[in-house]
Amino acid sequence: MFDEPPAEDDSVTVERRSPEDVFGLLGNGVRIEILRVLGETPEKPLSFSELRERADIDDSGNFNYHLEKLLGSFVRKDGDYELTHAGEQIVGAMLAGTYTADATVDAIPLDWDCLLCGGAMVAEYFREHARIHCRACEKGAVFPFPPGSLDQFDRDELPAAFARWLRHLVQQTTAGFCHVCAGRVDGRLERLPGGTESDPKPTQITFECRQCGGGMRFSGSTLVTHHPEVEGFFLDHGLDLLSGHPSRAWSRLDRFDSQIVANDPPRVEIIFAHEGETITAEIAPDATVRNVQRHTTDR
Ligand SMILES: [Zn+2]
Ligand SMILES: [Zn+2]
Repeated sequence: MFDEPPAEDDSVTVERRSPEDVFGLLGNGVRIEILRVLGETPEKPLSFSELRERADIDDSGNFNYHLEKLLGSFVRKDGDYELTHAGEQIVGAMLAGTYTADATVDAIPLDWDCLLCGGAMVAEYFREHARIHCRACEKGAVFPFPPGSLDQFDRDELPAAFARWLRHLVQQTTAGFCHVCAGRVDGRLERLPGGTESDPKPTQITFECRQCGGGMRFSGSTLVTHHPEVEGFFLDHGLDLLSGHPSRAWSRLDRFDSQIVANDPPRVEIIFAHEGETITAEIAPDATVRNVQRHTTDR
């Protein structure tokens, strides 16, 4: 318990170090080995002797020197040794293959058709992105997927793995965190070129990170689909959202539609209907999902 509540706005203090200094520490095989070993037992800090034995480094002077260099940035010593958050991120990035892997997956046929043109849908992997798209009209979704995770799935498991990862990205981003650096993101609803006077639909949701400037884009339908109440609607109707991209579930609906509610700033309503029930949700200009309403439909 605090004696006094923190009164100042500046009660959050963060010390930042230069990336040149911090990443400069990593250009050494002994240091990478130390991080790798500590990363093997994330729940259990290691004593000096345990760490040294597991790291299998003969020269003790050399080992001490490099371990010392990592302290305070990537390694914390609190009696025993453990990774800091930054150290975990480095080990995570090594495992995720962000710095090492280069992988491609040729087109995997999917069991639903393009909602726009009826063409065949395929899943592919190229340049560290999963791509779920239509062979005929080329429309679809593209999102980052960690290359190091690819070979943990069989080819026929990948479409579902991509779907689960996309859901994770949507949830992390709508919770307000950048998928690259965990910085704070701001969302906005944007109109895209295309569409017609009577059907002016193309929209996308863009999130931008205040910290790294990185971005993430989804369709409004994807955003709304992973809202908890809407996921409940799909679940109740036996429409699986985790075995393929959400467009698989959309293709099975009785009705899937969107309409522009306002133009400037834009607001869009997404409509899903199935088996006598309709759920609608509005996307506000700041990309938040509002006014979710579920009701029985006149048949
Ligand atoms: Zn198509
Ligand atoms: Zn970021």
